[in-house]
Amino acid sequence: MKNKKVVFLDRDGVINRYPGEKKFVTRWEEFHFLPNALKAIRRLTEEGYEIKVISNQSGIAKGIYSQESLNEITRRMIEEVKREGGRMEVYYCPHREEDGCDCRKPKIGLFLKATQGKEVDFKSTYFVGDGSIDVEAGKRIGCKTILVGSGRTKLEDAKKWDIQPDYFAQDLWEASGIILKHKNNERQRDN
Ligand SMILES: [Mg+2]
Ligand SMILES: [Zn+2]
Repeated sequence: MKNKKVVFLDRDGVINRYPGEKKFVTRWEEFHFLPNALKAIRRLTEEGYEIKVISNQSGIAKGIYSQESLNEITRRMIEEVKREGGRMEVYYCPHREEDGCDCRKPKIGLFLKATQGKEVDFKSTYFVGDGSIDVEAGKRIGCKTILVGSGRTKLEDAKKWDIQPDYFAQDLWEASGIILKHKNNERQRDN
């Protein structure tokens, strides 16, 4: 049997509303799912993808919110996802850039942690993010990258970046469509 396919997702600006430059989601009341995000997560789950959220949350190291608050946000986010028929795992980097950790995107530590002990064909794995560091992280690990315009970045600005994503999408729903389209193409090739 083939290994289960993995999809990596950034959190802020992809699943929930981007809190703003240098701002953070500090408690559940500030966490707002983006339109159709839950639907997209359900669709990917139903299609057999393992969804792994890879998110920088330096607000922890900066003391802006506590690990307990983050745990609470995560617990309730996963609860909502489940209620809507989706499933996902969540991995955070709590560090600041100057801490020199291995997990803060664009470093790839969290991707490796999330896929530990699994054979993952990164070449055919997608990472959906809303920022340039997401695109850079995806490139470093050798994923396909999809940049969404639902968060930090205006897609027309991204066209000027040195590092270009493989695909652009308005939001996670459209990104999930891109992923599934390629999955179906692959299936046709296999037959
Ligand atoms: Mg983001
Ligand atoms: Zn880290």
